Amino acid sequence: MDAVDRAVAWCPVCGRDLRDQRAFVQEYWSAREQNFLCWCPRCFSQCTVTISDRVILSEPEH
Ligand SMILES: [Zn+2]
Repeated sequence: MDAVDRAVAWCPVCGRDLRDQRAFVQEYWSAREQNFLCWCPRCFSQCTVTISDRVILSEPEH
């Protein structure tokens, strides 16, 4: 199992195995970003997992 398979193997909301035949995982690309549209049969959530080379975030002051 490579890094991409691990990224979409589990539901990000409830942790169910998305390799279940009732789950939906569709790969698509947007420019250089690899995305996976996922639907979970346990919690019925839909999400998009994006695989990127890097992530730039801002951190609020505290
Ligand atoms: Zn779920």
